[in-house]
Amino acid sequence: MNKFIFVSGGVCSSLGKGIAASSIGALLEARGLNVRMLKCDPYINVDAGTMNPYQHGEVYITDDGAETDLDLGNYARFTKGRLSRANSITTGKVYESVIRKEREGQYLGRCVQVIPHITDEIKSRILSVFKEENDTDVVIIEIGGTVGDIESVPFLEAARQMIHEYGRTNAISVHLTLITEVGSGELKTKPTQHSVKSMQEIGIQPDILICRSPVMLDEATRRKIAQFTNVDFDSVFTSPNIDTTIYEMPLIFFDQKLELVLLKKMGVESRHADIKPWNTVMKHFNARKGKVRIGVVGKYMELHDSYKSLFEALFHASLENEIEVELVKIDSDTLEKMENADNILGNNAPGGRVNGILVPGGFGERGINGMVNAAGWARKNKVPYLGICLGMQIMIIDWGRNVLNWTDADSTEFNPNTKHPVVSLLEEQVNIQNYGGTIRLGVYETVIEDGTHISKAYKEKQIQERHRHRYEFSNQYRNEMSASGLKLAAFNADGTLVESIEWPNEGNHSHPWGVGVQFHPEYKSKPMAASPLFRDFIAAVKKARAGYKE
Ligand code: GLN
Repeated sequence: MNKFIFVSGGVCSSLGKGIAASSIGALLEARGLNVRMLKCDPYINVDAGTMNPYQHGEVYITDDGAETDLDLGNYARFTKGRLSRANSITTGKVYESVIRKEREGQYLGRCVQVIPHITDEIKSRILSVFKEENDTDVVIIEIGGTVGDIESVPFLEAARQMIHEYGRTNAISVHLTLITEVGSGELKTKPTQHSVKSMQEIGIQPDILICRSPVMLDEATRRKIAQFTNVDFDSVFTSPNIDTTIYEMPLIFFDQKLELVLLKKMGVESRHADIKPWNTVMKHFNARKGKVRIGVVGKYMELHDSYKSLFEALFHASLENEIEVELVKIDSDTLEKMENADNILGNNAPGGRVNGILVPGGFGERGINGMVNAAGWARKNKVPYLGICLGMQIMIIDWGRNVLNWTDADSTEFNPNTKHPVVSLLEEQVNIQNYGGTIRLGVYETVIEDGTHISKAYKEKQIQERHRHRYEFSNQYRNEMSASGLKLAAFNADGTLVESIEWPNEGNHSHPWGVGVQFHPEYKSKPMAASPLFRDFIAAVKKARAGYKE
């Protein structure tokens, strides 16, 4: 089976195109198909790695170390299909390879143009997702941007050509639009009609419309939309505003039989649908009792998307623990002075004391001291703590400064001249002078020590998690750190890098649950299978909260 589904959007952005595409993927998987998801991004950056999280949300990392758009994170949470470098296409990547081929003389003297050269490059990249895994049934291609944007024209043109070449049973167009409400709740379909017209001008007749709307569309409205757009009445669906969770969307589309209509259009026999995992997610969601407050201390706190996978992983953990997680987003700059900690984290905090602290990944010097203070506060007050990547390095710095009393303990990322470089570049540790772009990206094996929180969480000795960092626990301090009580909880495969540390469970510095990991477990977390570390962090928070008297 070689099927393509192109998902485009109209009227305006932020309609939930990524969630709609992912939900379609989830439902086709529930019907037994092997689905691969692909994102086409019209921006000119080659990848998202160089973009500020404030501009574009988090950078999502794949197993093979690609730094991609956060939409791939949605795909990973909704579907099982493998995601790699090939699953993210940008205008930058497409032009980069066409220009390279031109320089190499591969176009044999021809004039190189958007059509056919750029569109051919896009098409061959879409096809390569098929070739990567030979059991692929369907590739779902999400086209970023809104129809009418200059930037997305080549991608839509490639889609038009593929629909023509492969035929409309093999290449389907799903178009997402907005139904607006005016006055006293009157629903307006005109923007949707115009959006479909824009698609038709490009030469694509949408097969399926998904209308984002404040409420479920009634039959009369759907008939009207169908009449104006040449779309079959049974192919007009609603994506209603919901106040539950995005993970209800597959069920909402399932109730409308969206995937059945899609299968019929593709000429694929419908098999038994297994949507039990999604029902279980909603069962957990509705069973949540009580609430814990998690202080997330970082530096891109104003934009929720900056830490998208992290917040999703906390939500998955809240589902599995059946307790609500309230995110308390704290800009680490405000914790620069330790005296502030009680007013921001403790009993005097506006919404009350936080029950757990998470310090996420990050780069650069700003806000570091505030994070160190947050870790120190959690350690002394026996508040559960999870440190991810930078958050683990922060634990090391706090331990150096406040337990070992090396007041200048630091990472060489923030203070290259410190006498106590407790976190440093591996190259510095072995005295190599010319270190280049040595970021450690993608999946690496981690070997876990017995008797640790992390071994209890994963229940496995060897795990595979994704990395994105340069700096490391400095091996020269291994002895002093562990002699003073800090647990070295996991290492890389050859034992040369410390991959996880924990605050001790007994002795002077006894603490209920404090774990730092150099990798990013949030990227693999799913609504029906929370990351084991996030799950156990929230379980520890729940337990600590129950024992704490306000
Ligand atoms: N800046 C740190 C490093 O490069 C941490 C990176 C991260 O948290 N992703 O090692």
